[in-house]
Amino acid sequence: MNVPAIAKSTFELLRNQPEFLSITESVITHLNKIKSSLERTRFVHNMVDEYNKEIFLHPILKEMVPCKSGCTACCHTQVSVTEDEASLLLHNITNGVEIDYNLLSLQTEQGNVTKDFYKLAYKDRKCVFLDDTGECKVYNDRPSVCRTNAVVGDSAQCSTDGVEQGPIRLVKTSKADMVIVGAYAHATESGTLPMMLTKVLKDKHAKDNTSILKSLFDRIIGRKPVSKDYEL
Ligand code: SF4
Repeated sequence: MNVPAIAKSTFELLRNQPEFLSITESVITHLNKIKSSLERTRFVHNMVDEYNKEIFLHPILKEMVPCKSGCTACCHTQVSVTEDEASLLLHNITNGVEIDYNLLSLQTEQGNVTKDFYKLAYKDRKCVFLDDTGECKVYNDRPSVCRTNAVVGDSAQCSTDGVEQGPIRLVKTSKADMVIVGAYAHATESGTLPMMLTKVLKDKHAKDNTSILKSLFDRIIGRKPVSKDYEL
């Protein structure tokens, strides 16, 4: 099971506490009953948001968290998604959200290997859903790990633009992390956002050869291979 590192370490820490373990168990039980992948994903995202509300709406914490629209440091890091989340992102694309397919292919080539991803130039690590003004094009449907990313302290430390990321302190989102572990435990597959998005696009194209899927598929598969010469 390929669980995002932060959620995994929360789970390791809290798995022996029934109050927390029951969150993960109830997520898996609920997900087993939901047939539609879009509904499953929205169920997980709603639960993550509900638990985070208790934390992020606290006035003291609000003052301590510098994260704001336009700060895109964490949108240049490696993001994991479940297959369900990738399907929801594809749903956004088939409903008109535009992405850079060359960038998607380039990032997909790095697979699940974190060190290969960070060999890419900073501009090539930009999430394909980040627009030119620093806004997320799929904000309401962004993956669960994007919903739990918040730091306290100096946000300048978050940057990986030609420098090692500084000593950042993430806000503890323990209950939301336990939800995320449940979602990943239930997932048939998970991995990096570019890899999983390309996978669901290929799978859907193989099953359902509509013209919109064909044109998206051709834009990914039809492109020329790019050089892998991206050392910083
Ligand atoms: S999905 Fe949105 S919030 Fe998440 S990394 Fe991409 S642009 Fe950022």
